[in-house]
Amino acid sequence: MTTHVIRTAIVNAMIVTADPLVPVIAGGTVVIEGERIAGVYSANDPLSVENADETIDAEGGILHPALINAHSHLAMTVFRGAADDRNLQGFLERILPLEAEDLDEVAVRAGIRVAIAESFLAGSTTALDMYFWPEVAAATAREAGFRLLCAPTVVGFPVPDCGSFAERIEQISEHPAEWVMAHGTYTMTTDELHAVSAIRSEQSARFTIHAAENQAEVDDVRSRTGYSPIGLLREAGLLGPTSVLAHAVVLDDDEVDLLGTTKTAIAHCPISNLKLASGICRVHDLLRAGATVALGTDGPSSSNDLDLYEVMRFTALLAKQRSGDASELPAADVFAMATVQGARALGLEGRTGVIAPGFDADLVLLDPDSPGLTPMVDPVASLVYAAGRHDVTDVWSRGRRVVAGRTLTTINLHQALLDLRAVAAKWIDKEVGK
Ligand SMILES: [Zn+2]
Repeated sequence: MTTHVIRTAIVNAMIVTADPLVPVIAGGTVVIEGERIAGVYSANDPLSVENADETIDAEGGILHPALINAHSHLAMTVFRGAADDRNLQGFLERILPLEAEDLDEVAVRAGIRVAIAESFLAGSTTALDMYFWPEVAAATAREAGFRLLCAPTVVGFPVPDCGSFAERIEQISEHPAEWVMAHGTYTMTTDELHAVSAIRSEQSARFTIHAAENQAEVDDVRSRTGYSPIGLLREAGLLGPTSVLAHAVVLDDDEVDLLGTTKTAIAHCPISNLKLASGICRVHDLLRAGATVALGTDGPSSSNDLDLYEVMRFTALLAKQRSGDASELPAADVFAMATVQGARALGLEGRTGVIAPGFDADLVLLDPDSPGLTPMVDPVASLVYAAGRHDVTDVWSRGRRVVAGRTLTTINLHQALLDLRAVAAKWIDKEVGK
């Protein structure tokens, strides 16, 4: 017995493929079969959509690969607005006690569900996510059809879902996962970092960590260990193409070269960096040196949203400003960071981030009648310099239409918002009561 695989044809789309060989196909058609893209056709291709179960007319709207969030703490929607107008150290001083007191599995479930709703509605279907109770987050993501890459977070002190560093290492050695996630060089000792490196090598896992986010962190790590955060990671054997460093803002020239020659991936989070006054990452230098640079929102309590269109725009504008050259980091390069380079950083190259046959059908359709996208001279530039999440009408995540006509299909948004308000009320009420 064979099961029928649903075929959906999206016709008359301005396809922005993220494939440098054919970046844009005007009036094109994408056929989705099950979870995958079965075919991509130009307006002139003879094609048959008669056997499609469903045909969607894009009416000339942009169809682009879903955006990839390379660094997040999605369930921190619970603490959105809890720690504004503070630098990184002030932010942590505020957030860590709140997490210790008010975070549990129920809060993580409510927090991540709303974060996934927000991500879908902002054209993103994949995130590399570091937070507590990852098994709860993963189950919620599976239900909603979101690709969540997560694992337990290693920290050098007790955290809400784990009593000690040793307990966490034991847990990871008993349950190997695709990722090993360590919080930061400033929240662990050198010995702990070496232990993480050993287990990571043993399990051939991918690795992610916060690193070199601001000057105070770099000074602290240097005075404690004698190394900068990047130097410490090199010394521990934690750089390379399967490592993702979040931020990498404070780098000297040698460190930029090192991250380039080791092909380390950076998750650039410009909005979080600006809001915490951490500094501006040398994205153009890192790309030139050979590093992979992907984009992230960081957690919604430091950024404070999950909008990768804004992240793309800030990335382009900051690179131009920082280099003093308006031609620096053109739109196509920034779009690649949110798609192809994001996929490479996360070990998903060839699976997502491009609209081409065989790739997962992770797709976003934008409103053809958006005033802000009219006229459209260069669709890629429109995406980076003008598009926003308000333009998103439909989203497919591995072939599943998770947003249809601006409505979420796998999440009951009303209930999800009620649940999040209820858990957030625990800390908000205490604040009001003070
Ligand atoms: Zn972060």
